[in-house]
Amino acid sequence: MIQLVKGTKDIFAGEVTAWQEIEKKMRNICQTFGIGEIRTPIIEFTELFVRGVGETTDIVQKEMYTFTDDGDRCLTLRPEGTAGVARAYIEHGMHNQAQPTKLYYISPTFRCENTQAGRQRQFHQFGVEVLGSYSAAQDAEVISVAAALLEEMGIKDVELRINSLGCPQCRSNYNKILRDFIGQNLGKLCPTCKERFEKNPLRVLDCKEESCQGIIANAPSVLECLNGECMEHFQKVQDILTEMGIAFTIDPKIVRGLDYYTRTVFEFVSDGLTVCGGGRYDNLIEECGGKPTGAVGFGLGIERLVMILEKQKGEITEVPQRDVFIGSMGEKGFLKAQGLTLDLRKAGILADCDTVERSVKAQMKYANKIGTKYSLVIGDSELENGTVELKEMETGEKTMISLSEASQILVQKCK
Ligand code: ATP
Ligand code: MG
Repeated sequence: MIQLVKGTKDIFAGEVTAWQEIEKKMRNICQTFGIGEIRTPIIEFTELFVRGVGETTDIVQKEMYTFTDDGDRCLTLRPEGTAGVARAYIEHGMHNQAQPTKLYYISPTFRCENTQAGRQRQFHQFGVEVLGSYSAAQDAEVISVAAALLEEMGIKDVELRINSLGCPQCRSNYNKILRDFIGQNLGKLCPTCKERFEKNPLRVLDCKEESCQGIIANAPSVLECLNGECMEHFQKVQDILTEMGIAFTIDPKIVRGLDYYTRTVFEFVSDGLTVCGGGRYDNLIEECGGKPTGAVGFGLGIERLVMILEKQKGEITEVPQRDVFIGSMGEKGFLKAQGLTLDLRKAGILADCDTVERSVKAQMKYANKIGTKYSLVIGDSELENGTVELKEMETGEKTMISLSEASQILVQKCK
């Protein structure tokens, strides 16, 4: 038997119902915030992610699903959503429209990672990207979208952590100080971090190895390297969040996994698991060939959101719901049931009938299983008399109704 690919998952039954609810909430919130949907392709040129995510990141170094197609094009399955949105923004001249451009997506995302709890190879991200503003107010607004969603979902014990990485100038100052610090502790770091130290010391702060964590804890803070303007920006983000009533803590160790972040970065963490991560990326649009454009966004892992919800509320079970089951006996009744069921469905009634050609007894067993409110059985005598017994499943109460009016009566009862 062929089984599903490691790190992927089938989502069905009660779980898919939960996903639909979550997606509905995401779409509603975005509508309220004036954020429009964008659907970008799952495949992009590999080069887009190398440039947009950053050559020294874990994603580009070891997590991308990359292949060469028949036309010798090097393509990659999207490992994150921002780069594709940035490309689309430039490609379609969205900067010519009213600015800022506010976009969201709900999309499968692919990373070839070691699988473990909360880490899959195909997962799904809800992302928001706002392009065309350099203001701290834009950072706060984007953060408030994620906060509103988590609040609406009833997620408890979720903590917002924020930090600032400053502009490239602050960052280069910090890189020097950090490199000095790491250099003194190089022997104690993991092999990957030794490499990171050469190429991009900031990445060391993001290492999940325990041995490295211990050393990182004493690393100098990036916040001490911020220049006046970056400090001011960071303070303003905090002031607006406070005004909005959104609680946060400052965590100078947050660097995020992507190279393109500037100034504000943030994470929502629940139970030690990052459910949402994002930040400002003022240089990405230019890096991808557009005009300098201030931008900020986040990606939220839907699987992790579902994990947290299940932990808090227990496993999601499906509540089947059907208004009526049209049972039948005999060939004529069977035919009638098919037609009547479609009539009812067109009238908006959640109707079902037998499509397996089971016995009446088996049909009723099935009707019970799928959780129907009413049932009726059409046989030869019902067709002859033009009447049928409508049974309320929960109470067992029966009423005689006219077959020709069944549709009308059910619409009244069920709507
Ligand atoms: P982590 O530090 O956990 O590896 P990351 O920095 O790689 O996360 P981002 O690139 O910021 O994560 O992605 C945004 C969100 O997507 C994460 O906060 C998480 O909820 C989710 N996510 C990332 N990688 C995975 C994965 N392999 N499986 C499931 N969800 C993921
Ligand atoms: Mg990661």
